[in-house]
Amino acid sequence: MAILEEPIKEVLTLRNYINGEWVESEGELVDIVNPATCKVIAKVPISTREEIDATVKAAKEAFPEWRRTPPLARARCLFRLRELMEERFEELSRIQTMEHGKTIDESRGETRRGIENVEVATGIPSLMMGYNLEDIAADIDEYVIRQPLGVFGIIGPFNFPFMVPLWFAPYAVATGNCIIIKPSSEDPISQAKIAGLVEEAGFPPGVWNVVNGGRTVVSGMLDHPDIRGICFVGSTPVGRDVIYKRCGETGKRVIAQTGAKNFLMIMPDANLERTIAACMTSFYSNTGQRCLSGANLIMVGEGLNEHEYDTFYKKTANAFVAAASKIRVGYGLDESVQIGPLRDEGKKKRVIEFITKGIEEGAKLRLDGRKVKLVGDWPHTCFLNPSVFENVTPSMTVGREEIFGPVASIMRARNLDEAIEIIHSNPYGNAASIFTSSGKWAREFQYRVQCGNIGINIGIVAPMAFFPFSGMKDSFFGTLHGQGQEAIRFFTESKVVIQRWF
Ligand code: NAD
Repeated sequence: MAILEEPIKEVLTLRNYINGEWVESEGELVDIVNPATCKVIAKVPISTREEIDATVKAAKEAFPEWRRTPPLARARCLFRLRELMEERFEELSRIQTMEHGKTIDESRGETRRGIENVEVATGIPSLMMGYNLEDIAADIDEYVIRQPLGVFGIIGPFNFPFMVPLWFAPYAVATGNCIIIKPSSEDPISQAKIAGLVEEAGFPPGVWNVVNGGRTVVSGMLDHPDIRGICFVGSTPVGRDVIYKRCGETGKRVIAQTGAKNFLMIMPDANLERTIAACMTSFYSNTGQRCLSGANLIMVGEGLNEHEYDTFYKKTANAFVAAASKIRVGYGLDESVQIGPLRDEGKKKRVIEFITKGIEEGAKLRLDGRKVKLVGDWPHTCFLNPSVFENVTPSMTVGREEIFGPVASIMRARNLDEAIEIIHSNPYGNAASIFTSSGKWAREFQYRVQCGNIGINIGIVAPMAFFPFSGMKDSFFGTLHGQGQEAIRFFTESKVVIQRWF
């Protein structure tokens, strides 16, 4: 067991990045604890209403000049930011592991996807182009131009502290808007580090701001008349009942990407070995704290008689449990480890409550991750090993609700129709995957299933930066999504010009 060098060596006290300055907050400081070692690594301020108001003012003042900056010049700032991120790639990744708990490989993947979003946004001169048509009537031309709106708020979740704000931020500033990022107060260090690189990259003051905190900062953004839109990623109750609702009341644009309960289904003709390997990363990587994590596994008996189905079910379930029991759990800076701790003790307790509920409601706990077994000698405070339930029905708590931990629930379905019915009985619609070698079943699945991200022989359906990060039903509130062209559209409004020549 070798632990990579930790980039955070002494306790950091985070400041806000407002108008190009590092500003100490008046708000109370809260400890950020590395969930693997249980050591305090930083203190984050819970900023005040006055501080968010002052940031909106600065961003609003920076807007007129930034929007007049040619797109190529704006893109150059992003190119420099990209280079700096690449130079600090490993440091940025290790910081994510320290503040969140995920393994270094998961963090490197997160850094990569964040950088890819910056890269896509550098294409802004072509991405932001409008369109035109001559002679819509005699001597009259018509064209559409895209313009930035002003100031946007970006509110991040704890589970991807580096990447998620980058689903939005590069596109917002590339299109000429100014932004205020409020990272999750649970792991805000990555966004502070990015702001440091933004400063080095030479973005003008006020264009890219970071204000730490919680509800006060969020409601300050939601209520402020000078904030034109909000990008939120987090849980469904907050996204739907706070963010989407309030944006509707105040007339703001909104993207609210919210919770999930994702289904993976295995058809009898699936390649078992590769399917089980994909399931392990889907259900357990990031310790199940991923909006794209597998949660429910449906074994589908399409075309099989009862005896054949029983054989297929047992073989697949046994392979799943055997693989899950071998997953190595420990500190993510140990490269031999496959999953890290839950983000904090409260989240671990919550997952344990779900496991207890599952047992009470009659599901069979095949693998009990509450018996913690670690690679290395770490406090058990936030760790859980993988768990597997069998005999889960869609109405059981563990089959229905988002657990956000390393727990898999196995269900049965006689055929594809029944499996799709089970998926549709769940209120979420973030992601669903099918494992099969039948093109017909795969086509049927992608055509019918009401989820924003569909996987065919893929366990984690994470859209590339140039595709939208989709979501349906209780997993998404808004119209356009983060990343790529949809983000460009979200951050611009179309203006129509009709010109007569005389
Ligand atoms: P959360 O809703 O608790 O917090 C998200 C953000 O909202 C944080 O910045 C938090 O400080 C703020 N917040 C929390 N409660 C608030 C309130 N009452 N009023 C105003 N602001 C509030 O979510 P989380 O626990 O940080 O993140 C996990 C959730 O995010 C999961 O449900 C997961 O599925 C979801 N998620 C969704 C996607 C997606 O693309 N659909 C991606 C990642 C995470």
